[in-house]
Amino acid sequence: MATNPRYSNGNARRKLRTWLRSQGLPCAICGQPIDYALPSGHPLSFEVDEIRPVSRWREFGYASPTAAALDRTNVQPTHRICNERKGKKLAFVPTVTRKALLTSRER
Ligand SMILES: [Zn+2]
Repeated sequence: MATNPRYSNGNARRKLRTWLRSQGLPCAICGQPIDYALPSGHPLSFEVDEIRPVSRWREFGYASPTAAALDRTNVQPTHRICNERKGKKLAFVPTVTRKALLTSRER
């Protein structure tokens, strides 16, 4: 069985998670603030979401699944429950990202 790149690079993934947490950003899916103090497993706790699913790394031009899993531009913070609802659907998130980009450009 192939190892999951999300977990095979435990230390690098932990660093990425810490980096993302330190940004203190709201949920990329619903736009509501995230309480970063909540224990993992809580429905509203912080979870790292890959914008482009790691399993489709080839499609998105990554050199390897690991490269996709560790790309800082490929992760966003979400609530655990929002991420679960999103599942593997891709169309939803880029809309939010595009809106955020437009807003930041208008400022
Ligand atoms: Zn959310």
